[in-house]
Amino acid sequence: MKILVAVKRVVDYNVKVRVKADNSGIDLANVKMALNPFCEIAVEEAVRLKEQGIASEIVVVCVGPAAAQEQLRTALALGADRAILMETNDELSSLAVAKSLKAVVDKEKPQLVILGKQAIDSDNNQTGQMLAALTCFAQGTFASKVEIVDDKVLVTREVDGGLQTVSLNLPAIVTTDLRLNEPRYASLPNIMKAKKKPLETVTPVALGVCTTSTCKTLKVETPAARSAGIKVKSVAELVEKLKNEAKVI
Ligand code: AMP
Repeated sequence: MKILVAVKRVVDYNVKVRVKADNSGIDLANVKMALNPFCEIAVEEAVRLKEQGIASEIVVVCVGPAAAQEQLRTALALGADRAILMETNDELSSLAVAKSLKAVVDKEKPQLVILGKQAIDSDNNQTGQMLAALTCFAQGTFASKVEIVDDKVLVTREVDGGLQTVSLNLPAIVTTDLRLNEPRYASLPNIMKAKKKPLETVTPVALGVCTTSTCKTLKVETPAARSAGIKVKSVAELVEKLKNEAKVI
């Protein structure tokens, strides 16, 4: 089984982001970028399926700038076999990404496509679902367990109040939730080996995809600063303040 994993380059989750002075977006100058954490989980799941002898090849794909080669190399060091960069500097909507991924699906014909449930920068939680609509593949979103049984994928999903298991016909799309697995660290020998693995660069235009966004970011603002808290001496004082100052009781 060939598995395609979609990975996104995002600001590292440890970075405290700064908004640009003109409020046009996030200041990315000298900011550490990383593989989106949910995409790391997607790569790990594909690697585990390969280790179990279920997957035969893992292809990772990223739609983004040339610098995203760095994240593709990380995915290769984690165990993917080859990478595709769909290079564009456009500001991408989820639909533009899904259309680009659809073009790669048409070319690569994977049996399983694994994506993160959401990118931690845009928090869109849309791309996997849109790709399922465009490809007409079955979808299992927010997966906390993935099992291949005969020609089906069983996906256990985290839903409100419990777990739901769905059986999907292949080819299928799975999006990963946080508890699906704990991604491994790339070892130094694997980081070295990843430098020699194939990384192909194509453009969305060459595959007939228009990535011009239908959505424009108008303004990005930092949240209002919270005022400092105070310590109260007694419960009576707390109740008095909640009643007369905060007026919440
Ligand atoms: P989103 O719908 O933007 O929250 O992203 C959900 C998932 O879609 C991510 O975890 C990735 O697996 C995939 N994805 C989003 N943007 C990209 C991109 N530019 N390139 C490749 N995959 C992406």
